[in-house]
Parts: sequence; C-alpha cells; structure tokens
Amino acid sequence: MTPEEARTALDDFLVHRLPSFGRYQDAIWTGEPWLYHSRIAAAMNLKLLDPGDVVAGAERAWREGKVPVEAAEGFIRQVIGWREYVRGVYWHFMPEYESRNALGASLPLPAFYWTATTEMNCLRDALSQTLTHGYAHHIQRLMVTGLFAMLAGVRPQEVHRWYLAVYVDAVEWVELPNSLGMSQFADGGVMASKPYCASGAYIERMSNACKGCRFKPKQATGPEACPFTTLYWDFLARHAALLKTNPRMTMQLKNLERKDAAELRTIRRQADDFRGGLS
Ligand SMILES: Cc1cc2nc3c(=O)[nH]c(=O)nc-3n(C[C@H](O)[C@H](O)[C@H](O)COP(=O)(O)OP(=O)(O)OC[C@H]3O[C@@H](n4cnc5c(N)ncnc54)[C@H](O)[C@@H]3O)c2cc1C
Ligand code: SF4
Repeated sequence: MTPEEARTALDDFLVHRLPSFGRYQDAIWTGEPWLYHSRIAAAMNLKLLDPGDVVAGAERAWREGKVPVEAAEGFIRQVIGWREYVRGVYWHFMPEYESRNALGASLPLPAFYWTATTEMNCLRDALSQTLTHGYAHHIQRLMVTGLFAMLAGVRPQEVHRWYLAVYVDAVEWVELPNSLGMSQFADGGVMASKPYCASGAYIERMSNACKGCRFKPKQATGPEACPFTTLYWDFLARHAALLKTNPRMTMQLKNLERKDAAELRTIRRQADDFRGGLS
C-alpha cells in the first residue's frame, strides 16, 4: 500500500461508513467482517496515514453536516483516546509488562485458534475471518477470541503471541496492551479498570451468532450449555477473592452469590471437564 492508497481508503471510509460507525461499532454480524469499520489501523501503524489527518477528516465530515456527532465522536475517541493511551501504557510499563499474569492463567492456547475448527459459532466466525483476512474488528477481538481465552484461563503470553501473528495491523506497541491488558486482565488493571468478562448472553445481545449455534447462550450446564456461559460463572468463582476488591465487579459477584451451591458445583465441574478437553 502507498500513502496515496491509504488516503483513498480513509476517504472511502469517511464518505461511506463513518456515518453509521457510532451506531454499529460494537455489533457483530456473522459473515460480515467489515461492517462500518475503517480498516485503516495498519496504514496508521505503518505511518502511511497521520492519525492527526485521520481525526481532522472525521471532524470535517461532522462540521460539514455529513455525519452525526456520535459517529465522529465515537471514531475520534478510538484514535485519540484508545490508540494514544495504549501507546503510553506500552512505553511506560515495558519491558516488565510483557511477563505479567495477574490471574495466574496457565492453559495452552487451544489449537482451534489456528484452524477455526470449533462448534462455537461466534468463535468459528471470528477465527475464520481472522485467518482468511487478517482482520477482525475490535469487539470480536475483545469479546469473542479474547474473552474466551480469558475465561478459559489461557496463558496471556500465548494469547499475546497469537494476536501478534494473525492481524495485518499487529504491531507490538498497540497489540500487547490490548491483548495482555485489556482482553486478558493480565496486567492487573492498568489498561482496564475491570476484566472484560461476560457470558454467552452478551454475545447473543451483540450479534446474530447464537441463532445458528448448537449451544444455548443462557445455559450454563448440560450438553447444550454455551461454553462462554459455563466458563463465565467458573471464572467469577475462581477469581472471586481477587475481584471482590474491585467495586466495579460488585454486581457480577452479587449474581454469583445468588447461585445455588449445588448448581455452582455442577457448573464448575462442567467447566473443568470442558477445559480438560481443550488442546
Ligand atoms: C486483543 C486486541 C488486540 C488488538 N491488536 C491490535 C493491533 O495489533 N494493532 C492495532 O492497530 N489495533 C489493535 N487492536 C485495537 C483494535 O481492535 C484495532 O485497532 C481495530 O480493530 C482495527 O480495525 P479498524 O482499523 O477497522 O478500526 P476501527 O474500528 O475503524 O477504529 C478506528 C481506529 O481506532 C484505533 N483504535 C480503536 N480501538 C483501539 C484500541 N483499543 N487500541 C488502539 N487503537 C485503537 C485504531 O487505530 C483503528 O484503526 C486490538 C484490540 C484488541 C481487543
Ligand atoms: S451460544 Fe455461545 S458459543 Fe454459541 S454463538 Fe452464542 S455465545 Fe457463541
């Protein structure tokens, strides 16, 4: 890609997709890898596009009445807020940051991350588009591939190496705080003030993936239990002592406390069996 081609890609985004960016930036739709995203991270990371010009372009589109304020604001916040913040985290905390493992996760990365061979629809979709295009949008990275790895207890350094290997925009200073910190909470709360942990019900709300899936997103036990949901309750129980010190986790832990003890035991056994079957 040349700087001219990168500029053309930015202009195409500003005209055709930015107007709907704010509304749909957190949505996941099976078979739709791009949705309303810009796909300019690689160009910015390679310095083919100046982030200042990118932000100015979005602001101009809003001032000219071509895009609603929530679209321009949402997009500018990603670039000025997240991207610059991530850069600060990386350069401030490295090289020690890379070896952090605040949750003591020890499982190897499941082999299906390299093949997309899984019955879990949401993961299969996110993984296949990743392996085909080298692209997945933020919520797929955070709340599908990242979430599953964190709930299962995969070693954060393996998760980090996978993200660094598979995405076309992967550059360590952006990728590492996002994967090890934001998605795995392995930095103990530097990048995010609480773990991004959720059950299958979240994925059902944000996508259409659960409709065709053989698992049931709200079910935590039994043969049709959604692995995200089983692992979610197990994750909360496993890390309850640590998470109790975090006021932002109060609601989630209250819901855990409401669970019947026998049901929780069954969930935890099923989570152990499931984890044991991952290779
Ligand atoms: C686990 C994980 C790993 C990631 N690895 C990378 C990576 O290696 N390289 C990378 O550039 N981004 C990474 N991101 C951030 C984000 O997912 C990508 O920047 C985005 O998906 C790229 O697609 P896009 O250009 O269509 O972004 P859009 O959705 O159109 O967003 C616009 C721009 O905002 C910036 N941005 C948005 N969110 C973030 C964020 N959390 N951190 C930094 N910049 C952000 C990007 O430059 C992006 O191009 C990662 C996120 C997660 C959760
Ligand atoms: S039911 Fe669970 S595994 Fe299946 S798509 Fe929904 S969240 Fe993913």
